[in-house]
Amino acid sequence: MTPLILWFRRDLRLDDNPMLAAAVETGRPLIPVFIADKSVLHLGAAARWRLGEAVAGFAKRLRSVGAPLILRRGDALAQLMALRAETGAGGIWWSRLYDPDAIARDAEIKSAFKADGLEVQSFASHTLVEPWQVATKAGGFFKVYTPFWKALDARGVASPLPAPKRLTIMQALPGSENLDQWHLGAAMNRGALILARYAQIGEEAALTRLERFLNGPIDLYREGRDFPAKEAVSGLSENLTYGEISARRIWHSALAFEASQPGHAGAVHFRKELAWRDFAHHLMFHSKHILTENWRPEWHGFAWRGDSDEAETWRRAMTGEPLVDAGLRELYVTGTMHNRVRMVVASYLTKHLLTHWKIGLDWFADCLTDWDPASNAMGWQWVAGCGPDAAPYFRIFNPATQADKFDKTKAYRHKFIAELNRKPGPEALAFFEAVPRAWGLRPDQPYPQPMIDLRDGRARALNAYQTRELQEN
Ligand code: FAD
Repeated sequence: MTPLILWFRRDLRLDDNPMLAAAVETGRPLIPVFIADKSVLHLGAAARWRLGEAVAGFAKRLRSVGAPLILRRGDALAQLMALRAETGAGGIWWSRLYDPDAIARDAEIKSAFKADGLEVQSFASHTLVEPWQVATKAGGFFKVYTPFWKALDARGVASPLPAPKRLTIMQALPGSENLDQWHLGAAMNRGALILARYAQIGEEAALTRLERFLNGPIDLYREGRDFPAKEAVSGLSENLTYGEISARRIWHSALAFEASQPGHAGAVHFRKELAWRDFAHHLMFHSKHILTENWRPEWHGFAWRGDSDEAETWRRAMTGEPLVDAGLRELYVTGTMHNRVRMVVASYLTKHLLTHWKIGLDWFADCLTDWDPASNAMGWQWVAGCGPDAAPYFRIFNPATQADKFDKTKAYRHKFIAELNRKPGPEALAFFEAVPRAWGLRPDQPYPQPMIDLRDGRARALNAYQTRELQEN
């Protein structure tokens, strides 16, 4: 009955937390811990701030079942070793993550503790299924989404587990650091207060969000999910990122909804979208280079442009292309961006501006509160054309026609662009509150002219892509 260290990372919830459920079953005294190691301290500004809020929310949630959350900062192995020495713990458990850095770190920690005779266990919790549990008939991994989806749906997803009612904790708990002293929101400056208006933090908020979605927007989901001004999507990516809700809980709630309304197109489609997140993790696990280089090697010679004034204008949401700027301002103000608009802004950067997708990927990593390494890399490489199952190179989103189609009433563009609105609303004005003063932006300045003619940009991109193809053949 030695104590167990439960190392929480991206599983900041009580509900459907297999590690926690198994730990409670043992009856052993528990030591719940969160460590701010380099995987936390190296996050982008918005994600680091949001993770701090998630940790605070989870600490409160743990207190409601009688347990404190011990906070430590520094190298994870060193901190866990210290905790073990302080507590005489006989085991250390965690929930598995699948990005290469986490895998390497966890492997090192596992072998160090095992060599020391300690019990080490890890659990599945972050995705619907583990990345290796779905495989092609030949035993390989899927590179195309549709067969992945079919295999996943046919395999099924394990049922979620209930939240424990009470935890038994170790009597003389070790000391904890103070979350406020970590200053996880420091890089956000004034922006943290603005993001806080839009974030829905913690497990209870995530479960409420799911319930609200199932009570209305899901009916619009299939047809409406591409229209950024419609309330037709769940917004759950923010909570999934920190494990404030489990993907399995979402999946099974959607299945239960389908059972109550057989053939409901929105519910099936919603599970299909959720499966994209698993597909991204599947790809990252089996081909980790998706995070750092063109997934398709034939793109290595492509003449992507590096960082430039044009890329900076894009980051500042001043391209003069209203749908692109609205999306980038939504990102800056709310920490998130509608999926349709993510595709349009990414296409504009990588195709019209021929700029390397990594520049956009890094900007999203800095600004998104739902930043996820796998989904972000898959999204950027998909749009740029160099990823698995990618959009073909000749698919160049035209931001003007996309706006006409998906934001016909201009509601979305007007919501985020003050200069286009005689009476700008809070989101449009918040952009100017949030941006660095050095950018010198003001809402009463005229909206910029388009920085590039869309036809010229398209022609230039097609030409570059065709040249690449010719060189390859
Ligand atoms: P809903 O439509 O309600 O979907 C439910 C859930 O399904 C989402 O929460 C998400 O977990 C999953 N999902 C839906 N679409 C996708 C998709 N295309 N790829 C992967 N998962 C999906 N998503 C992130 O979570 N983090 C990122 O860093 C991220 N970066 C992206 C970058 C680019 C360039 C693009 C094109 C897409 C990116 N996405 C990312 C995917 C997608 O845009 C978001 O998951 C979605 O907008 C989240 O909103 P929602 O929760 O309302 O989604």
